[in-house]
Amino acid sequence: MKEKYNYINLKKYKLSLKWILPIFIIILILSFIGFRYIKTLTYKNIYTTISELGKQTVAQLNIAINEQKKFVETMVDSINRGYFKSESEIFDNFADDLENYHFTRLAILDKNGNGITSDGHTVTDYPITDEFFNFNNVYLSENRKSTISNDQINIYSKAFYLNGEERVLFATIYTEKYKEILLRRLYNGLGGTYLINNDGMVLIDSFDVIKENNVNLYDFIINKYNVTNDNKLTEINDMKENIRNKNTGTFDISLNNDTYFVHYENVGINNWYVISIVPASAMAEELNQFIAISLGVCIFINCIVIGICVYIDISNQMKNRKLYKAAYIDPITSLGNENYFKENSNVFLNSLKGNKYILTIDINKFKVMNSLYGYDFCNKLLNAFGEKLEKNMPKNNITCRMYSDVFATIFEYNKDIEQVLEKVNNAVSTIDVDNIKIHLSISIGVYKIKKEDKDINKILDKSYIARKQIKGTYNSYYYMFDQALENLLLKEENIETSMEEALKNREFKIIYQPKFSTSNEKIIGAESLVRWYRNDTIIMPDNFIPLFEKNKFILKLDLYIFEQVCKDLAYWKEKFNANLRVSVNVSKEHFVDENFIDEYVEIANKYNVDRKNLELELTESATIDKSIDLVKIANKIKSYGFSISLDDFGTGYSSLAMLQELPIDVIKIDKIFVDKADLNSKKNMINYIVLIAKQLGTEIVVEGVETKEQADFIKALKCDMIQGYYYSKPIEKESIEKYFIKDDKALI
Ligand code: C2E
Ligand code: CA
Ligand code: CA
Repeated sequence: MKEKYNYINLKKYKLSLKWILPIFIIILILSFIGFRYIKTLTYKNIYTTISELGKQTVAQLNIAINEQKKFVETMVDSINRGYFKSESEIFDNFADDLENYHFTRLAILDKNGNGITSDGHTVTDYPITDEFFNFNNVYLSENRKSTISNDQINIYSKAFYLNGEERVLFATIYTEKYKEILLRRLYNGLGGTYLINNDGMVLIDSFDVIKENNVNLYDFIINKYNVTNDNKLTEINDMKENIRNKNTGTFDISLNNDTYFVHYENVGINNWYVISIVPASAMAEELNQFIAISLGVCIFINCIVIGICVYIDISNQMKNRKLYKAAYIDPITSLGNENYFKENSNVFLNSLKGNKYILTIDINKFKVMNSLYGYDFCNKLLNAFGEKLEKNMPKNNITCRMYSDVFATIFEYNKDIEQVLEKVNNAVSTIDVDNIKIHLSISIGVYKIKKEDKDINKILDKSYIARKQIKGTYNSYYYMFDQALENLLLKEENIETSMEEALKNREFKIIYQPKFSTSNEKIIGAESLVRWYRNDTIIMPDNFIPLFEKNKFILKLDLYIFEQVCKDLAYWKEKFNANLRVSVNVSKEHFVDENFIDEYVEIANKYNVDRKNLELELTESATIDKSIDLVKIANKIKSYGFSISLDDFGTGYSSLAMLQELPIDVIKIDKIFVDKADLNSKKNMINYIVLIAKQLGTEIVVEGVETKEQADFIKALKCDMIQGYYYSKPIEKESIEKYFIKDDKALI
């Protein structure tokens, strides 16, 4: 059902940022930590890759150099064994293998550096140091310039004897050749390798950026990237230091907006070092992958968590909305319910400046309609009625269905209020439901709210009280709460403040109204009736019982009266040996809990009174209340041995079927059926009522018999008992006792 009324402020679903934001921040922090973690992992991975590459390079270099050394060793071995007579024989023999080992030429020189080369050059005065003239091992020189071609070369040398004379064999290699052998470019040419000695002098540069000889790699890097930052200089110096100490290491350094991964590895020959350098940009793929993964994971987690938050948030709001609806919205009319009315009217009333009114409206004879048209139809009727009602009120209003067919509305109106009443009355006088035109009459209680009125319950009560005044006045559909009602309320308030005190002070007293047998006119019972002796006046029960029923004080009062009756019965039994059956009125307010009877049993036991002589009067009108199961309650009362009478019979709404189920001993026909003013016109009616009572097979008492004419009529109907002024008004306890003593009319 759609929400019709804007004053019921159902908020739109809205995300509450106040707790999504902190969660978002937490995720951000977690993502950052995750990002750092993945970055560390990736760096570690790159470190491993690059150091592996460095080690591989070193291994390849070692293999190649050792093979070259072995070749030189082999040559010298075979010369030493005397296989060759002359230099030319030697050169010829090994000419084919030179190429395989990347050598350019061989040379055989004497101690003074004079000799010839395998490609026909004559060498004179080549500076032969002791390192070259080594008979034990093959010596590998550092880079040096070739005296023949000016190229950078390295020389492998070993000394030997040729025909008894000392000679040295040189195998020369262009330094450049090392590149071919081993110094592959890394990462599609973006990474590369330097071969340096431990002073940092560059032997080979696979990047081909160093054109000059005798370049120091450290200085070269510092100059090329213009490194001035202390931290970076320290990093370079650390590498320098480590290399000098023959250590191996890996690090990364940021230069010119790129990060370079560097690995240095000791070759183990001539204090040479392999430096592998790869810029991060060369690893873009790996890094991009890393960034993509981290970003993806981050977004994914964010989406999931935010999704969950949104879901929880919305479903909470939905739940709240449902709860709100269940708590405050009347499902039949979509108007606010009584809770809504009571909780919101104060704020609303405070916002109004002019004349404020409350109306409570009910539909006359709605119960009859319910049984005539059925609940479904009548619910539709209520819905249409609520809608029309709300529409025809002054614009700014709160209109709610309070319960059943009772609606309440508050609003401001500064002209003649009768205009509003007339408009509403006209609007709802006919209502269309399922194309059936229903004619309605309503009763409106009106109260003009005063400034000092703060308690909405009291305000509501005043309009309810006003509405009740309409009953019976046929030509009026509304009643304005007036001074007379105000006075009545004041009196009630007065009673309420003094009732507890009155109970303590024993201001409530009992009088008894005897019941007489119609056959012999002897007293066979009495009804206890309460009176309130207040100051010097006697207050009659009609003036306070309804109020006590409303405020539940009746629960206490009834028990108090019952106890007094038990006391009197015990006294009469002892003093007069009298067994009078006394009836006590039990308000229907007790019936909300069937265990109320336990207290009655306890009191009867306390005074040792025979429960048969205690007759509990239940009013027939108790059956109106749907929540009361009178049959169950009566059965329970009966099970304890009390007698039961059904009071005010004929005025209630009980069905014959239900009456048949009730375990009653006595039926008390209400006094309206013997009204002396129009007894004749009611004779048929009372006949009928007595007939029903007789069918139920119980004793029958007729109440309110005031005249001989009434008494004769009742006697003729063969009812069992009469209770009325004709025989006796309600009398003091002492006056009852006179019947026992006189012993003429009392049935003892
Ligand atoms: P009820 O139970 O119908 O009591 C009978 C009422 O009819 C009594 O009025 C009684 O005085 C009055 N009555 C008896 N004979 C005649 C008669 O010939 N003519 C007229 N006009 N009236 C007659 P009362 O004592 O004013 O009590 C009024 C109602 O107050 C009782 O009606 C009963 O419903 C209630 N009530 C009285 N005492 C108690 C009590 O202790 N507890 C409860 N819960 N209700 C009580
Ligand atoms: Ca009664
Ligand atoms: Ca009665």
